[in-house]
Amino acid sequence: MFDALADRLEDAWKKLRGQDKISESNIKEALQEVRRALLAADVNLQVVRGFIKDVEQKALGADVITGVNPGQQFIKIVYDELVNLMGESNVPLAQADQAPTVILMAGLQGTGKTTATAKLALYLRKENRSALMVATDVYRPAAIDQLKTLGQQIDVPVFDLGSDANPVEIARQGVEKAKELGVDTVLIDTAGRLQIDPQMMAELAQIKQVVNPDDTLLVVDAMTGQEAANLTHTFHEQIGITGAILTKLDGDTRGGAALSVRQISGQPIKFVGVGEKVEALQPFYPDRLASRILN
Ligand code: GDP
Repeated sequence: MFDALADRLEDAWKKLRGQDKISESNIKEALQEVRRALLAADVNLQVVRGFIKDVEQKALGADVITGVNPGQQFIKIVYDELVNLMGESNVPLAQADQAPTVILMAGLQGTGKTTATAKLALYLRKENRSALMVATDVYRPAAIDQLKTLGQQIDVPVFDLGSDANPVEIARQGVEKAKELGVDTVLIDTAGRLQIDPQMMAELAQIKQVVNPDDTLLVVDAMTGQEAANLTHTFHEQIGITGAILTKLDGDTRGGAALSVRQISGQPIKFVGVGEKVEALQPFYPDRLASRILN
């Protein structure tokens, strides 16, 4: 998915690599190329601006121009800043001192929130941590059935109170149920809308207040590109997230959202979804991604 970005950057490096000397204008030229490459990969404009400014300051401030192997030094600065942008290493799921750990799943409809809830439950099971999934999306009755079907598939219990109950109450009782069952982690799937909606946000905020989650994860569809950054900003501002799951990275995405989420919210991408199957979830490693982008 980052091949196009990697290829474009490689073109920029070709002009720099192996040169004994580079000038300030060589650096500016290369930065223009990096800027264009990031924008073409759908990285948020504001994020790109900040990134280029930081790299420029570091490159012009350091001894890059006068040093040995200046091209390589410049590329190293870009690499370090890329890692900086996405966070240095994988940030694992929260784990409460006292069970159950409560994880609240938030996001728009269709982003893959329900699927991600089941994927996480399976992931936890593989880590020998038991899970309970809670279905609070009463607006789309099919959502409750979808979670139940997924629960059966991965052998993880699902708590629901049907579609007439109050979502905040379902969440509260879901956590109680988790305590009763003695499960390690309770995953609360919430209702999404096609776009940000004040009622949805108010309900999420209420659920959050009542269940006091250890992790509030925003599910972001990587295919939405630039829009992913705006969404992250709004959710973080209104709800307060502690991490994100970036879904559909297997699709035809240019991947820019992966570079924007952390910078916009200050919160890490913890996992990525790489397919429709429940197994298709991977912890996110920013340093590995930065290496891939820069070959
Ligand atoms: P929700 O409305 O946010 O709960 O979204 P769903 O979990 O129902 O997912 C919406 C669609 O996206 C479904 O068809 C899923 O199979 C699909 N989906 C979810 N995650 C991924 C992913 O990582 N990759 C791909 N290709 N499809 C996904």
